Amino acid sequence: MPAKKVCIVGSGNWGSAIAKIIAVPEITEAVKGASILIFVIPHQFIGKLCDQMKPHITQGTIGISLIKGIDEGPDGLKLISDIIREKLEIDVSVLMGANIANEVAEEKFCETTIGAKNDANGHIFKELLQTPNFRIAVVHESDTVELCGALKNIVAVGAGFCDGLGFGDNTKAAVIRLGLMEMIAFSKMFCKGPVTSVTFLESCGVADLITTCYGGRNRKVAEAFVTTSKTIEELETEMLNGQKLQGPQTSAEVYKLLKKKDLINKFPLFASVYQICFEGKAVKDFITCLQDHPEHL
Ligand code: NAD
Ligand code: 13P
Ligand code: CA
Repeated sequence: MPAKKVCIVGSGNWGSAIAKIIAVPEITEAVKGASILIFVIPHQFIGKLCDQMKPHITQGTIGISLIKGIDEGPDGLKLISDIIREKLEIDVSVLMGANIANEVAEEKFCETTIGAKNDANGHIFKELLQTPNFRIAVVHESDTVELCGALKNIVAVGAGFCDGLGFGDNTKAAVIRLGLMEMIAFSKMFCKGPVTSVTFLESCGVADLITTCYGGRNRKVAEAFVTTSKTIEELETEMLNGQKLQGPQTSAEVYKLLKKKDLINKFPLFASVYQICFEGKAVKDFITCLQDHPEHL
């Protein structure tokens, strides 16, 4: 690839790990003059950040979002990549996969998925980011890839509740499977573009669900929510040392979308995670969302 200036926007847990893979000296410089932008910040900050960046974007700049989250607005579902596209007027791919940042930083083998509406740009990002221990598949169904990354964080909160309540591996497997079914159903209902189930077999789908439901921060904090009775906010501050949780907030965005379309009863796992995190629903009742799941009716 000819020399390009890459700017990594975000210096948290995942941003720092990905910087290690790319190893470009320019990463600490400002966005000005960069032709490749890698977005990797907690999703709640993206709008404001794009507004700050807009005056410095140059012609032909392309972006990739590693951000796992969604937004909900007056027109319904808004993907984080949509916000970046609209605000910066650039092509945006996404990268989502079973990629716990600390393990990637330690160069332990993993896979990931790039979703690219523009195939050529998808391959530019693959060339930039692939290493022997970070293997990339590029797929065209970008919106599905992005929704996988966002929605699995809600399931991981459910997995953490399940661990905190003392259930076993079979129960957690049920949380993962029912969560996956809700992820697929939600994507098919709310995504503007095509959603094919096979995309969920890429690293962004089942594999990310598994790693996050066993090793992620959302799982860890949700488990502590059960065992300590502290609030999610208190635990985020106490346990994560400045890092941010995405699952509870994503459950709130999803809940608003479901409520508007009167679909709460079709997504009991997503809805329960929201109600437990934000509406004081007793976490000991979490299991009822699995027992009464529409998958079994
Ligand atoms: P993090 O949880 O470490 O959050 C801290 C970072 O957030 C800060 O370093 C800064 O870059 C940013 N930040 C904090 N306050 C901000 C503000 N007011 N305005 C703008 N930016 C601010 O972040 P992370 O773990 O790198 O996660 C970023 C994204 O990557 C999330 O969407 C996450 O879901 C996703 N992700 C994380 C991992 C992981 O293992 N950590 C893996 C894959 C994807
Ligand atoms: P957590 O934010 O729950 O740690 O998940 C990280 C992740 O997205 C792994 O792919
Ligand atoms: Ca919102």
